Amino acid sequence: MANPPYIVGNWKMNGTRAMLAEARAIDRAASRLRDVQVALAPPFTLIHAMREAVNDIGIGAQDCHVRPSGAFTGDISAPMLVDAGAGFVIVGHSERRAMHGETDAIVRAKAEAAQAAGLGIILCVGETEAERDSGEAEAVVTRQLAGSLPQGEEATVKLSVAYEPVWAIGTGRVPSIDDVGAMHRAIRARLAATYGEAGGDVRILYGGSVNAGNAAELLAADEVGGALVGGASLTAESFTAIVVAAVSGRE
Ligand code: PEP
Repeated sequence: MANPPYIVGNWKMNGTRAMLAEARAIDRAASRLRDVQVALAPPFTLIHAMREAVNDIGIGAQDCHVRPSGAFTGDISAPMLVDAGAGFVIVGHSERRAMHGETDAIVRAKAEAAQAAGLGIILCVGETEAERDSGEAEAVVTRQLAGSLPQGEEATVKLSVAYEPVWAIGTGRVPSIDDVGAMHRAIRARLAATYGEAGGDVRILYGGSVNAGNAAELLAADEVGGALVGGASLTAESFTAIVVAAVSGRE
């Protein structure tokens, strides 16, 4: 069987220790399900406590610095994430690209720093609404991948790419299933061009307003190997419903 679907919740700047109860409930639900891989990316401050609170799900971070240590006030490095108990990190999320000026070159450096520390990576790409409307979506995403995919022998080990149209994040709008499939096929082609045969093993996740009602259909689209979920990952009730939909869509 191919890889099980990978369903990852991005808590963004949400969550204090009071919300660990949600993570525990998600973990209990995930432990009862087969053939699905579940993970949460809480804020830095919760990584260690969440890792201690759960058994089965993966725990990761939402960003890392390009350097392992140094005079970078307020930043967190990939080795620090490992030390805190993280197993992966999201890099290149559109909110970081837009609000923190992260370029493709910075995203690539972060991905390579994460890989050097042994972390899994979820590398985000996606077009804006204006880019979609002007017919440039595939060109934009292909260019982002060309500039930000990690290089090196082990580059595809533990690498996932998340296609997240910026206009679908937090808006309740999703692309058509045909558009999702077409973009995921284009990403697969770019991965093959970059990595050869190993590019076939990289999971491609869809992200942007995934919920329990649309998850099964989105996950059934061509080359979609999982979902990156923002708002609907904040409660066990809504996130678990997506995980269940991901499993039932495969039966
Ligand atoms: C995200 O920002 O990664 C995301 C997918 O958000 P949402 O599910 O809330 O659209």
